[in-house]
Amino acid sequence: MTMTKIAVVGAGTMGKGIAFSAAAAGVSVKMHDVSDEALKQAQIYVKDQFERLVKKEKITREQATKRFEGIQFTNELKEAVYDCDLVIEAVLEVMELKTSIFKQLDEFAPAHAILATNTSTMSPTEIAAQTMRPDQCLALHFFNPVPKMKLIEVICGLETSEDTIDKAMRFGETIGKECVRINEFPGFAVSRMNCLIGNEAMNMVMEGVATPEDIDKAMKLGLNHPMGPLELADLVGLDTRLRNMEYLYKTLGEKYRPCPILTKYVKAGRLGRKSGRGFYTY
Ligand code: NAD
Repeated sequence: MTMTKIAVVGAGTMGKGIAFSAAAAGVSVKMHDVSDEALKQAQIYVKDQFERLVKKEKITREQATKRFEGIQFTNELKEAVYDCDLVIEAVLEVMELKTSIFKQLDEFAPAHAILATNTSTMSPTEIAAQTMRPDQCLALHFFNPVPKMKLIEVICGLETSEDTIDKAMRFGETIGKECVRINEFPGFAVSRMNCLIGNEAMNMVMEGVATPEDIDKAMKLGLNHPMGPLELADLVGLDTRLRNMEYLYKTLGEKYRPCPILTKYVKAGRLGRKSGRGFYTY
């Protein structure tokens, strides 16, 4: 069975990008968030992304209108998931929140539905254990900004079935992404490496080794990274990055201790692009 109807839970940075990418590929999408403001912002974002596709002549205006208008935005979780084939959860990186949502998804989503989390670091096995269908649970880790980034890490928990992995991989292909299969371990493949690079860059800012601009320039021109680690952290959101570091520190140990400057910026409300200031001012 192919997955033609999906629900995205959490309409923030990642959720809105996932919803747009799926809708642009012709998948039927419902978006849920508890915040009406987040739903409103997601709607504006998705409309703008469709406009860009029309301008680039990748899609006709009629197709864009039809696909945009096909997306349902709702603050009712049950309404969002009751008839879908796949749910992708993209709420805050907080284990208690994710587990409580998975319990509800298990109750409200149809028996055949696959339940996926977009966690950057956390255990899909622990999240799946809250449900009666751990074989139909896994992590689908998308990257930011979702419309541009090709990769999905498909992370198998302890009980994830081959059938679930197969369907998830096929869904990834349907929406134009490339998938890699990862066996669960904290931080998977990309976050485990990337969080360490970002944290080291922050330590270097704190030690006065170089300015954020020069650290980013060094990585872009010296190692051919498309973005510097500090501009990337600002894009991710420093609050999200701090939660990632705290989880990796707890699970993988000392080398992931969050840089004090990251903690200080988050306390000050300097969350990166989304708040207008992080390592850079926007
Ligand atoms: P975000 O803060 O931008 O958005 C989270 C959204 O979840 C908010 O709109 C919030 O209103 C909503 N929410 C909170 N509680 C909810 C609930 N009970 N039900 C429904 N919605 C609820 O966060 P984000 O950056 O999009 O991150 C979401 C997930 O994706 C996290 O697990 C994060 O680790 C992961 N992730 C983030 C990035 C990134 O670059 N930001 C990249 C890959 C994965």
